[in-house]
Amino acid sequence: MLCTVGAAAALLVGAAGAGGSELASPLGAAACALVAAACALTALLGADDRDPRATRATRAAGLAMALWAAGQAWIALLLLRHPGLEQQPTPGDALQTLAAPAAVAAVLALPRPAGYAGRRRQLALDGAVVAATGAALLWRVAFLPLDPSGASALTAGAVVLADLFVLALCLQLAVAGLDRGAALVAVGVALFATADLANTHELVRPGGTWPWLASAAACAAWPLVAAGFAAAGSRRFGAPRLEAVSPDVRTGAVTTVLVVVQVAGALVTSAASEQPVDAVTGALFAVVVASLVTRELVHRRQRSRLVDDLREQALHDPLTGLPNRHALSQRLLALAGDETGQRAATAVVLDVDGFREVNARLGHAGGDDLLRALARRLPAALPPGWSAHHLGGDAFAAAGPGGPAAGAAVAAAWLEAVAEPVDLPLAGAVAVTACAGVSCAGASLADPLVAVAEATGALREAQASGRGRVQLHDDAARERGARRQRVRERLALAVAGGGVGSALQPVVDVATGATTGFEVLARWRDEELGEVRPDEFIAVAEESGLVCAVGASVLRAGLSALRDAGGVERGLRLAVNASPLELRAPGYVDGVLSALLDAGVPARLLTVEVTEGVFMTADDPAVGVLAELGGAGVRVAVDDFGTGYSSLSYLERLPVHVVKIDRSLVSGLGRPRPRAVLEAVVALCRALDLEVVAEGVETAEQADVVRGLGVQRGQGWYWSRPLAPELVAEHLAGSTRVS
Ligand code: C2E
Ligand code: CA
Ligand code: CA
Repeated sequence: MLCTVGAAAALLVGAAGAGGSELASPLGAAACALVAAACALTALLGADDRDPRATRATRAAGLAMALWAAGQAWIALLLLRHPGLEQQPTPGDALQTLAAPAAVAAVLALPRPAGYAGRRRQLALDGAVVAATGAALLWRVAFLPLDPSGASALTAGAVVLADLFVLALCLQLAVAGLDRGAALVAVGVALFATADLANTHELVRPGGTWPWLASAAACAAWPLVAAGFAAAGSRRFGAPRLEAVSPDVRTGAVTTVLVVVQVAGALVTSAASEQPVDAVTGALFAVVVASLVTRELVHRRQRSRLVDDLREQALHDPLTGLPNRHALSQRLLALAGDETGQRAATAVVLDVDGFREVNARLGHAGGDDLLRALARRLPAALPPGWSAHHLGGDAFAAAGPGGPAAGAAVAAAWLEAVAEPVDLPLAGAVAVTACAGVSCAGASLADPLVAVAEATGALREAQASGRGRVQLHDDAARERGARRQRVRERLALAVAGGGVGSALQPVVDVATGATTGFEVLARWRDEELGEVRPDEFIAVAEESGLVCAVGASVLRAGLSALRDAGGVERGLRLAVNASPLELRAPGYVDGVLSALLDAGVPARLLTVEVTEGVFMTADDPAVGVLAELGGAGVRVAVDDFGTGYSSLSYLERLPVHVVKIDRSLVSGLGRPRPRAVLEAVVALCRALDLEVVAEGVETAEQADVVRGLGVQRGQGWYWSRPLAPELVAEHLAGSTRVS
């Protein structure tokens, strides 16, 4: 609002100035006084609550205009009272002189586009170079020779330099991508400087078109400044225009062109003219050299600082200021030393548990606060020679010398440091935990960077086992990983080529020893790896998604063997193991039913064995699949009972028909405790009408104890090892027929 008042008043002065001669009329004097008052109000009260810089710019501009208008009013009044007054400095001139620094302050205070702040020095230096070369040229061309009765040459030279400086600075600001309003103000101030330059010329070398230039520039300046402030007042001040060319490039190019042209001009005119080189010319050339040298030095320093900054940024995380992943790689490479890898480099990778929930609870700002607090704490928890890194997100890493033991100690120290509650500015005390993975890039590891990947893998394992865990990845783990990889590759080939076979282990009636059925087990003999145990390759098959194919082929092989040996007519059962992954895979039930149909085996003769884990979450889709199988007549057995959670409550709720007591309980039957557990389990199963099978019975004594406890079925080497399918018929021939 005040801006607009000031603008309107300034327009008035501009109009009056253009119409009247030097405003030496009562109307002009009154207009100037009015403008001075309005601008003084702007200087006193002008405020922009969105931006303190805009407020400062408005007030400084108001002050400049008030001083200028007051000076103009003073001069007009003097001229009114003493017409024909000799031209000499008056208090009005003094006021107008004071307006210049206020105007410069206003322009410098204009809010700048983002990223502009650091360029102020560069703009000023460019301005100084342009001003100095321009002043040298102008002085030679337009000011020499001086009127001996005029003002002091040195003072005039200084004023020329200052005016050109303001001019250059304002023009730079005008082209440097400021808001249009700010650019208009800058051009207006540049015109004021031009007017002052012309007035100075008039003082030291009267005559010519210079007074006309002074009036025209001053008249044009007022409306421009006014329009600029009006535009800025109605919009956000100093908002950047969308630029096709970066302001730096533009002002830099303008500076270079101006300096080259002006220096050339000044040199040519100096050489061509008969004018001796006066003190002012000498001083101006000295300023040119000094400003060029300063500009170059400052540019150099800025460039090297920029390079340092970029290097710093490339190696550090912006959020926490810790060295980043790139720095971690460099550090590990340095630690691993020469290519022989003599020295051990260890990497620890840490990840905050459940950080997503923490972020959701605290908000992203709170999450960032937490990460910063941890980033301050973690380096302090490291032994000498170790470095802390932020890998991004909630992941941190440490690198240092020493083997797996050193890594494990660091991981433990870090988990402790993380667990200490953090006091956050907004959220108060927050306690979190973390998991860590450790890997040592020992002599066996050619590329120490692999250690980070391995530590991350170990971290994932730690996370899978719970919160606040540490997992080590050492040479043994590396060998296990390589073996697993090998098994995975060979197993894929075996599955594709039908190379996974089966064996059937008899399940017997404990009382009579007669075979009542078989458990079919997967068997795999690989050309390269030899006999691979199912415990190993089933785990790999689960990881790689092959377990469904393996399970399906084992089931079909078992059903065929049972049928071919005449087991169906004898009412013998077949048990097959099913991984939870198979149960959750779509189409499992259909696959089982069609295998039964194809083999001609009734569903009631099939038992699907699953481990207890499946029953622990009632909403696991696998439980629904088991119920569906139960509905089709297939029985469900709990495998390895007694090794896992051993919560008995699910036996009642869920579709279970058989309980298989694990080998570890059976082999411990000599001791009182397992025996008591087994007694309780058998009693419970009897109450729930569940069949009990004792697994892994190896000796006559175990068989006796099991029998004594009232267990109906048994399985184990005592009765029979798992048999190749073609031996099943032979086995049955020697076994007592059961009804
Ligand atoms: P499991 O289901 O508990 O199978 C019983 C395991 O105990 C078999 O080992 C069997 O050979 C072994 N065993 C039987 N009697 C005795 C004994 O008296 N003493 C000793 N020490 N061991 C005995 P196997 O064949 O090595 O199978 C190991 C595990 O691999 C199985 O444990 C089962 O969890 C899994 N598995 C085997 N075949 C398959 C399959 O086709 N599908 C799935 N999903 N898992 C399978
Ligand atoms: Ca089993
Ligand atoms: Ca078992």
